[in-house]
Amino acid sequence: MTAYQLGPLLYEGKAKRVFQTDQPDLLAVEFKDEATAFNALKKAELAEKGTLNCRISALLFEHLQHSGVPTHYLGVQGRHWMLVRPVRVIPLEVVIRNVAAGSLCKQMPIEPGTPLDPPLLDLYYKDDAYADPFLSEARLERLALVNSEQRLELEALARQVNTVLLELFARIGLQLVDFKLELGFTADGQLVVADEISPDTCRLWDLDVDDDKDRILDKDRFRQDLGGVIEAYGEVLKRVQGVIQGPSMYG
Ligand code: UDP
Repeated sequence: MTAYQLGPLLYEGKAKRVFQTDQPDLLAVEFKDEATAFNALKKAELAEKGTLNCRISALLFEHLQHSGVPTHYLGVQGRHWMLVRPVRVIPLEVVIRNVAAGSLCKQMPIEPGTPLDPPLLDLYYKDDAYADPFLSEARLERLALVNSEQRLELEALARQVNTVLLELFARIGLQLVDFKLELGFTADGQLVVADEISPDTCRLWDLDVDDDKDRILDKDRFRQDLGGVIEAYGEVLKRVQGVIQGPSMYG
């Protein structure tokens, strides 16, 4: 067991708190029960959401690592704590879309549910003060958050994550519609997947359900006031647990 002491709070986001520890190569992330949408204009406390997202995210990170995708994940502890490597997170939201939904359908004439092949990769500037705007090529270049080599690496990694997760979710009867990734560099310069991957950050539709509301098993249930948010997240966890063992306790 690698014992560690919790250190000061480094950062508090909408869904998680990140703490330093007494070990320089270890951060502790607490998943909160708070749900937010529309840049935190809509908020609620949903009991058990933190635990569900922590578990789902941990299992997905473990599956990605077994599939050769580097992540910041090290293990879980208790019900809603995840241990991770410190990374310098690039302030970009990397969104991959396999099926049209959400903001895409509000911004261009495309019917929700339209398959996107090849999957669309969209980059957004991660900054609540600007409401996470979509980035044009020119703006991305102007921001200079990554160089062209890193940009290619980042996109290739995000597409690799998509390939692995599409296959995994299809096996458990779920359509991975779209998802958001955050990526960062470790102290030794490795590009890794960071943050979380959960029904808060993915759209997941039950492939066995036709109704376009009933099939939703992700944060759109909260965004659209459909109810059953925790039940939906619980269903995702149950299915993921059916095919991935774990998650492993840290230490
Ligand atoms: N997403 C996210 N955080 C954000 C914005 C989007 O996790 O700040 C996820 C969202 O849950 C969905 C995907 O990224 O799975 C694409 O979201 P979209 O651009 O359609 O925006 P939305 O409709 O959520 O505003």
